[in-house]
Amino acid sequence: MKYYNNKLEEWKSSGNLRSLPDVVHRGKWIEKEGQTMLNLSSNDYLGLSSRQDLRNEFIGQLQESGLPFSSSSSRLLTGNFPIYTELEELMAERFEREAALLFNSGYHANTGILPALTDKQSFILADKLIHASIIDGIRLSGAPYQRYRHCDYEHLEQLLVKYAHEYEQIIIVTESIFSMDGDVADLRRLVSLKKSYPNIWLYVDEAHAIGVRGKNGLGIAEEQDCIRDIDLLVGTFGKALGSMGAYLICSRTVREYLINTMRPLIFSTALPPAQIAWTKFLFEKLPYFTDERHRLSVISRLLSEALKGKGGEISASHIIPFIIGENKDCILTSLSLQRKGFYCLPVRPPTVPKGTARIRFSLTADITEEEIRFMIYDLYQNT
Ligand code: PMP
Repeated sequence: MKYYNNKLEEWKSSGNLRSLPDVVHRGKWIEKEGQTMLNLSSNDYLGLSSRQDLRNEFIGQLQESGLPFSSSSSRLLTGNFPIYTELEELMAERFEREAALLFNSGYHANTGILPALTDKQSFILADKLIHASIIDGIRLSGAPYQRYRHCDYEHLEQLLVKYAHEYEQIIIVTESIFSMDGDVADLRRLVSLKKSYPNIWLYVDEAHAIGVRGKNGLGIAEEQDCIRDIDLLVGTFGKALGSMGAYLICSRTVREYLINTMRPLIFSTALPPAQIAWTKFLFEKLPYFTDERHRLSVISRLLSEALKGKGGEISASHIIPFIIGENKDCILTSLSLQRKGFYCLPVRPPTVPKGTARIRFSLTADITEEEIRFMIYDLYQNT
């Protein structure tokens, strides 16, 4: 116990102690310590999770369906309600691929898929900035791996040349929109690399892109027209899709293999059927949220252009980092913006590289241009 207390004290005195914030959510607003702020740190990118019109429509349907609030079991035992298969079939059809498989969260997906599909004869090549959940999955898999420099596909190719003939299978792993920098992977380039060497698979995590990008909201893979070429296409429902859970788009063989081997799928109670029904309700409407996607891209460009004037780079997405550098300055800027009514959070090392502490803006479609302009004005006054 002494060890833990000492550690907690150490984190407290260095300003690194984390705590669960006491907040109340009201749509795009968040209340903290009696202050109401515009939430500029949300992952509810399309603003769907608490939209009243959608809730009203859904709750009527849910009442009629009688679906329960717990599956009370893993899908392999007694928890496999038809609604899971219905959503999987709908997703496979929309992505025009053979199969889809649902998981309890993106964390479950990323920590379960790679360990199930790889062994010591596999080699994993992962982008340097992939999310912690994928890193955990790689570590759990026990497969040898190497990280290539962030979005540096020449470096990736050098590694492919080196390893392609040594291993039976190589899996390239990337996100599509990166969670901390908001930049976008060149999936077409990755597909063409994959096709140039034998036995290469491509694993793409679209957590921050599903719903937001592509004509029908199917992500960067749709936008870059390469859905069919991505062997393992992962995404979560907990962000733009306003729900909870995750999916994999894959071949029928991979789906069946995972059902037999993937531990987070086999050994965990499946998501509540009522939750899956909400996900399905929103996923069905996904192609029609074009106004939301458009508004999000307009305000993202507005903020991104303004930050460029402060030395930032134009972000290619709705995740917009404002890099400040030192932890202390970053915390002060975020507190000052919070006092002015803008809830934005500092992201510090080790989550991001040393010396790149930043405010990570992640925008949602229900924020107006005027609200962004007010925030930019305050930011300019402050820094
Ligand atoms: N992948 C990425 C890239 C993420 O950013 C996150 C969560 N922030 C996850 C996976 C985990 O998804 P979930 O929240 O559904 O567990």
